[in-house]
Amino acid sequence: MSDKIQAAHGAGGEKMDQLIKQYVLKSFYSSSAEIPLDTLDDAAVIEDIVFSTDSHTVHPLFFPGGDIGTLAVAGTINDVAVLGAKPIALSAAFIIEEGLSFELFERIVNSMGESSRNADVPIITGDTKVVERNAIQEFMINTSGIGKRTKLLDENIEEVKRYRDFKSRWLLDSNLKPGDKLILSGNIGEHGTALLSIRYGFETNIKSDVAPIHRLVETALEEGGIVSAKDPTRGGLANTVNEFSEKSNVGIILYEDSIPIPTAVHAACDMLGIDPLEIGNEGKVVFGIVNEKAEDVLKKLRRHPLGRNASIIGEVTDKINGVILETTVGGKRILQKPIGDPIPRIC
Ligand code: MG
Repeated sequence: MSDKIQAAHGAGGEKMDQLIKQYVLKSFYSSSAEIPLDTLDDAAVIEDIVFSTDSHTVHPLFFPGGDIGTLAVAGTINDVAVLGAKPIALSAAFIIEEGLSFELFERIVNSMGESSRNADVPIITGDTKVVERNAIQEFMINTSGIGKRTKLLDENIEEVKRYRDFKSRWLLDSNLKPGDKLILSGNIGEHGTALLSIRYGFETNIKSDVAPIHRLVETALEEGGIVSAKDPTRGGLANTVNEFSEKSNVGIILYEDSIPIPTAVHAACDMLGIDPLEIGNEGKVVFGIVNEKAEDVLKKLRRHPLGRNASIIGEVTDKINGVILETTVGGKRILQKPIGDPIPRIC
């Protein structure tokens, strides 16, 4: 085994998990935060402030459906939103490779400005560094975001408690219980496929799904009964549901036929030998929800432009360990956490 950090260690899968647990968590002191670092959720919570950070590196910088700027804004808004909080502000830190054109820089910051304005989440602080040629690839952006607790989240939790015991104050990966259902907000595989089409030069009608999903989370909270939420980014749906299963210590059965995967995503994945369930998405949410509310939330999500293809994709159980994919004709396979990312540098 190599004694050096490899690309897979930053890919959001099993190897990154090891890197963080073996080195980072050991070195950082554990705080009294309500949701601390070692929870390894999408965001942390301290003094009722939700706080998250994300660095973005994507090649190429522009792709069908978005660019590194839209990605940097949406990525952090989404990590704050999936805790159930209302995102209220972002920071933006730029690391620029010497030689990047003003024209590209302007296009990227313009799209960041537009995304943050449309999302109504302002960028209120930032930092800029320029490094020598080849020190990084073109341009990297770090965004951090904060969010606050709302009445909507409290009301959602009250609704959960009408149906089952619930101790948490936030939508955590560890909140699932047998009997809960999983809802996916729409098609998977689009962001990764859009990137792949440029890298490998094949034709596709697929665009990245990159979008802030905080309003979609609000829509779900308005109906109530949500216990967990997570954006299936790096490592894709396979990673997200395995995180749910591990952290909640429950089994998950996914209904393979109910997972919305566009034909063109299937075609691209078949051609490249990639599992669409392992590809990153940038505008989707997986909700854990009490069974009694699943149909109502599904209906409501489908009326939202970002939730039109929402689907109930699985259920939580204590009958199995880990995650199993089932087809209606009776096929079954174990779905594991991806080791690394099948496509590096996509977010
Ligand atoms: Mg996330």
